[in-house]
Amino acid sequence: MMGEQQKVKILVVDDNPDKLLAVEAVLEGLDQQVVSARSGGEALRLLLTERFAVILLDVNMPGMDGFETAALIRQHPRCEHTPIIFLTASPDDAFAVRGYSLGAVDYILTPVVPEILRSKVAVFVDLYRMTQQVEQQAAQRVALAQEHAARLAAERANRAKSEFLANVSHELRTPMNAIIGMTDLALTESPPPAMAEYLGAVKSNAAVLLELLNELLDLAKLESGKFVLEKSSFSLRDIIDELTPNIRYQAEQKGLLFSCAIAADASDQFLGDPLRLRQVLDNLLSNAVKFTDIGSVSLRVTVESATMQESWLRFAVRDSGIGISQADQERIFAPFTQVDASSTRRHGGTGLGLAIVNELVAAMRGRISVASTPGSGSEFGFVVPLAYGLSQTPKNQSPQNQPPQTLSTPAEKPLDSSKPQDSPGVSLHVLVAEDTRTNQEIVKRALGRRGHSVVIAENGRQAVELVTSTHFDVVLMDLQMPVMDGFQATAAIRDLPEGKDIPIIALTAHALSDDRDRCRTAGMDDFISKPLDIHELANLVERVRRQPVPQICS
Ligand code: ADP
Repeated sequence: MMGEQQKVKILVVDDNPDKLLAVEAVLEGLDQQVVSARSGGEALRLLLTERFAVILLDVNMPGMDGFETAALIRQHPRCEHTPIIFLTASPDDAFAVRGYSLGAVDYILTPVVPEILRSKVAVFVDLYRMTQQVEQQAAQRVALAQEHAARLAAERANRAKSEFLANVSHELRTPMNAIIGMTDLALTESPPPAMAEYLGAVKSNAAVLLELLNELLDLAKLESGKFVLEKSSFSLRDIIDELTPNIRYQAEQKGLLFSCAIAADASDQFLGDPLRLRQVLDNLLSNAVKFTDIGSVSLRVTVESATMQESWLRFAVRDSGIGISQADQERIFAPFTQVDASSTRRHGGTGLGLAIVNELVAAMRGRISVASTPGSGSEFGFVVPLAYGLSQTPKNQSPQNQPPQTLSTPAEKPLDSSKPQDSPGVSLHVLVAEDTRTNQEIVKRALGRRGHSVVIAENGRQAVELVTSTHFDVVLMDLQMPVMDGFQATAAIRDLPEGKDIPIIALTAHALSDDRDRCRTAGMDDFISKPLDIHELANLVERVRRQPVPQICS
């Protein structure tokens, strides 16, 4: 304990050196530090810099006497509460009264009785120690509280930043979706070739902008810790088979060699987030192709270690490209970091890809690293633990049948959009709960062209009311709506007798997995993300529609 080691200071003020010595000798037994002053002035000077547990003050001193000194001591904020004990030879009560009125705590008659002096001073030494301890504890608590408040403020600021980013990118995405959807519709109206070309350029640029907004939103979600990885069964080889044709094509366009190898001892069926694993690989491979002009790009998957429950897989993306200096290797995983402006201009990109990759790999309990030699090439490698999938098959056997997933994204279920104008032959009655005018229009037209009829609900509550009064084959449900949102509306529809088995498809702004999970929990059957691909939308509606009740003929 701090007070037990440090000596406490006691100030003795007396003009008589013999009396000073006598008092010092008596107090020696307390084993504290006794400081003496020969006058009131000297005492006041000492009090400017030192803190004392108690002051023993002689009343009769030439010049400034004890009372005057006490009055001045009390004026000083540093020692206004320091206990003062007067030493006086006079047993006169008037002295005592004056002393108390000046803030003395006690007085002792001289010549002193050693035991009395010692025990009185000892009380104040203990009191001082306790006060110091309390002060120290209070200071520690204040420091802890300040630290806590600072941490909370920083977390709040970070959350506010992420929410702001999420809101901004959401707000920007709504009109972007409309631009893409309307351009799509315009392209289906057989425009003249020049106009088709312009519309194509609008569409692809809008898609780039949308991708940037999605990346920003991903990063904001990852950084705010709101991101939840999916856990579903997937085939490792399927993921890579789906991913590589596009990369191979990009590589061949640049005259690069592309190769891909999965170690024979790697299992195939795993439990995890296939979409996010593919996103990481896609990003690393696209970068490898982007930053390589001559040579090759490769992907290798090996088993780092394996137990009965899981494998630690190592994914290595290697290129013979421009390489990255040691200093740059340390900063490229930070958001908006690109090695240099000139290469940025040449290659394009946002500098967000690796930041997202880094966060995603960390979220999968993995780690990512880079090794690179400028001028020779780079290798980005990451190791992630993957639990075996439900239908675990022996290594080397790539199973063909995966369990069907309740919800899907465009990437998970490639849809045949080659026959957009085909009518399914059955006219469906579709309820669309969507508050954005343009999206209402896009859905109406996309489904109208296939011969389906559409009823619009401006919000969730209207949708619930319409389900009670009208028969619908499918409900398309936007998630964010005024009055009642898509989650609440779905729950309310599921509570209705007529809404128990009606297929409900969520229209979401962005294919984030936490949205997918929430859709599932809310009782929705499927999921389509914006920008709405008009062909895919129609196909999905036709696939999930409520099956007609078989007519029993007598
Ligand atoms: P973007 O590619 O959109 O600029 P990334 O975050 O994916 O953003 O990459 C950040 C930077 O890291 C790139 O701009 C580039 O300078 C560097 N980089 C990434 N991958 C490679 C690679 N394979 N070879 C050389 N440089 C790379």
